[in-house]
Amino acid sequence: MSKRDYYDVLGVSKDASKDEIKKAFRRLARKYHPDVNKSPDAPKKFKEAKEAYEVLSDPQKRSNYDQYGSADPNEGAGFGGFGGQGFGGSDFGFGDIFDQIFNGGSRRRDPNAPRQGNDLQYEMSITFEEAAFGKTTEIKIPKEETCPTCHGSGAKPGTKPETCSHCHGTGQLNTEQNTPFGRIVNRRVCPYCHGTGKVVKNPCRTCNGKGKVKVNQKIEVKIPAGIDDGQQIRLSGQGEAGINGGPAGDLYIVFNVKPHKIFQRSGDNVFLEVPLSFAQVALGDEIEVPTLYGKIKLKIPAGTQTGTKFRLRGKGIKNVRGYGQGDEHVTIKVVTPKHLTEEEKAIFKKLASMSGGSVSTDNDSLFDKVRKKVFKTD
Ligand SMILES: [Zn+2]
Ligand SMILES: [Zn+2]
Repeated sequence: MSKRDYYDVLGVSKDASKDEIKKAFRRLARKYHPDVNKSPDAPKKFKEAKEAYEVLSDPQKRSNYDQYGSADPNEGAGFGGFGGQGFGGSDFGFGDIFDQIFNGGSRRRDPNAPRQGNDLQYEMSITFEEAAFGKTTEIKIPKEETCPTCHGSGAKPGTKPETCSHCHGTGQLNTEQNTPFGRIVNRRVCPYCHGTGKVVKNPCRTCNGKGKVKVNQKIEVKIPAGIDDGQQIRLSGQGEAGINGGPAGDLYIVFNVKPHKIFQRSGDNVFLEVPLSFAQVALGDEIEVPTLYGKIKLKIPAGTQTGTKFRLRGKGIKNVRGYGQGDEHVTIKVVTPKHLTEEEKAIFKKLASMSGGSVSTDNDSLFDKVRKKVFKTD
C-alpha cells in the first residue's frame, strides 16, 4: 500500500521548521479531528495527519524518514508513542490533543465551570443545480447529546455525583518527586474522576455515568441558493452539547459542489461552450442554447468567428447574499469536420476553388501573415 508523502500530507516543505510542522498539524487537526469533523472521510484524513506529525515532529524519526522513507529503518509500520508521552492511543479527545500538545498539558481550569460544546464540521457534496437554486435536505450526524435521563450529571436519578476524594474536586493531581536537581512537581489529570472533580457512585443506566449519549441526530439543512464550492454555513447551537450546562457548539456545513456536465461557474456567472458547424457560422443560424432556466433561442449572425462570445443577461446564478444575478456567457466553437462524405468533399473542393484556396480578405495571403508573425519580416 503506497502512502502519501508525510510532507505533502502536512502541506509543508522538506526543510520546514519544527514550528511550521506543528502549526500545519494544528491546522489539520482542527479541521479533521473526528470529534469535530463529521464528514465520512475525516477519520482517515486525521489519522494520516497524525501519523505524519508523529514522525516529522521527532528529529530521529524525521531523519530516518528523510533517508529511508520510513520512520524506523528496522520496522516497516507502526510508530509507538507520541514523543514518549503515551500519545499512541486512537481515542484521545479533541480537547486533550490541544491540551497535551499545544498547552503543555496543564491548562488550569475549574472542572465544574460551564463550557461550550465543541463545534462540528460536515462536508456536504451537492450538485451544480442544488448550489444554484438551493434546497432543503436532511443529514444525519453522529454526536454526543446531554443524557436525557440524568440531564448530564451521570448520576442515577435521585442521587448526586460526589466530590472526588483523590483530587478534592480540582480534577488534577500533583505528584512530587525528589531528584538530584531538586523537587519536581508533576501535575496531571486526576485518573479517578478524569478531571471532572466528581465521582459518580450510582451511575445513570442510560449513559453509564458519562452524562452524555451518542445519537445520530437528524438535522435539516437549508442549502442557500447561490452557494459556491468551498463556502460554508453555520448552524448555531447544532454542535456538540455543552459541558456542565454550557451552551452547545455550532455546526459548520462546508459545501463541495460537483462539476456540471456542460456548465462551468465563476462567481455568479455561468460559462458554456457551444459547438457549431462551419455552415452555421458562415451562413448564420438561430440555435437553442441550454441555460439553468431551460433552453433559449440565440441568433448567430452570418460570419461569426470561433471564440465569439454572447452574453445572456440574468441567466447566471442568483447571488448568495442577494446582490443580483449573474449572466450566462456563451462561447462559440467552430468544429472542423473530421469525416467528410464524398459529396461533402466535392462541395468543399468547389468552395476552395471559388475562394482561391485562401481565407484571407485582404491582400496578404495567409502564408504571408504567418511568415510576418514568426520571422518578423516585412
Ligand atoms: Zn445519564
Ligand atoms: Zn479526582
